[in-house]
Formats: sequence, structure tokens, C-alpha cells
Amino acid sequence: TRRILIAGNWKMNTRSASAVELAKAVVAKVGENPKVDVALCPPSVYLAAVADVVAGTPVGLGSQNVYAADDGAYTGEVNASMLTDVGCRYVILGHSERRAILGETDAMISEKLHAALAGNLVPIVCVGETLEDREAGNTEKVVETQIRGSLAGLDEVRAAGIVIAYEPVWAIGTGKTASPEQAEEVHAFLRKLLGEIFSADVADQIVIQYGGSVKPGNAKELLGQPNIDGALVGGAALKAEDFIGIIEPA
Ligand code: 13P
Repeated sequence: TRRILIAGNWKMNTRSASAVELAKAVVAKVGENPKVDVALCPPSVYLAAVADVVAGTPVGLGSQNVYAADDGAYTGEVNASMLTDVGCRYVILGHSERRAILGETDAMISEKLHAALAGNLVPIVCVGETLEDREAGNTEKVVETQIRGSLAGLDEVRAAGIVIAYEPVWAIGTGKTASPEQAEEVHAFLRKLLGEIFSADVADQIVIQYGGSVKPGNAKELLGQPNIDGALVGGAALKAEDFIGIIEPA
């Protein structure tokens, strides 16, 4: 059975003091034996500071990005070896903001995926349709293209250990959550697709998170769906109370 993973994507928010304070509050509330897996993904400049807070606790650390190359002349970039060096277990890949604002393509995400796995990071691969895609009836087509492209060249053994995050773009930061039925429909489709690409057994092991305006008031119902195995939380992860309010009932 799959373990639920609740991850906070802090995006480009916090400062060193508030990052540490937020991490401390989450660690204190999560305790030593949480029923679910929990991860915090601060901006890369604060990874080390947050790593100090979560060290020796069940709370995992994740990066919001990685560059797919070994050490060298790549000004401004950070590789998987650096991320594990500061204590990361996870890396978010292909977030819709990176796809839209920074021009990340499925081919780039696939390179990052292989670099992450080679560096012993658990990739959280994000996919999701825009409102325009959904209204045109293209949701399944769009997420299928993203999955096939982002997971290109991935073998079955490694596939079982990855995490997928379904994040409909129209639900991100908008307060408009996908209904549990809408989300479950896409999650079930993604699991079937993963079954076709890999095997039913592998698809059964892959954690598929939902992301997009998850908050304490809607998390339980979303997580109650058979194919929703966690949440990737943006805005609500910036307030310890809200983030805990998502974790506790899960
Ligand atoms: P919000 O929870 O702020 O909608 O953001 C979701 C998200 O993009 C998480 O990666």
C-alpha cells in the first residue's frame, strides 16, 4: 500500500528567519511517528538552514529544482549531488511555474529526472492542464504527453520509486480546487497510463499527489479518493497552522 506524502512547496517565499521558524513549527507538530510522509521544499538558499531543523526528524527536505549536470561551468545552477549533500531527499521537477515562466520542456524534465535518480533523490514530477486545455476537452491528452515526455527512458525498477504530482494549472494559487471527483478522474487516468507504460504492479506503487489550492478544509476529502496519495501544497504550506491542518487529518 502507498504511503501518503504531504509536501510543502514554499516557492519563492520566506527569509532565513521565517523559513527556520516555519520548519520548527512543522517539526514540532509532526512529532516522531507521523502516519504520513511529510516534506518541506524551501527556496534553495534556505535548504541548509531548514536541513538543520529537520535533521533527525521524520520530516524530509526537498528542492524545487535541480540542474542535470555534474559539477562544472553552469553559472547559477545546483546539481543533485549538492542537493543530497545538504540533506535533500526529494526534488520537485517540472512545476507548472517553471514550465510556463522558465520554459522547461518535457525533454528537460526527463534529463532532470535521470539526474535526480542517479543522485538518489526522489523526483516529484508535476503535470497538469490549463483551463483552456480542460475546456477544450484535452486534459487527458495534455497530461499523457507530459508524462510520456517527462518519464522518457525511465525503467520499471526506478519508476516504482518516483512521485507524480497532478496540479491543474487553473487550481494553482487561485483558490479554485479541483473537486475530489475531478481530481480522482485524472489520478485514475494517470495510474492507468503508468500501468501501460510500466506495469500494473509498478503503477500501483507510484505515489500520485494532488496540488492546487489544497487547504485544511478540502484536504481530507481529496485524500480520501482511492488514487490520491498525497498533496503538494503551495500557499497553505507557508502557515504552519494550515499545513498541520492538512497533515493531521490525513
Ligand atoms: P497552491 O497550493 O498555492 O495553489 O499551489 C499549489 C502548487 O503549485 C504546489 O506546487
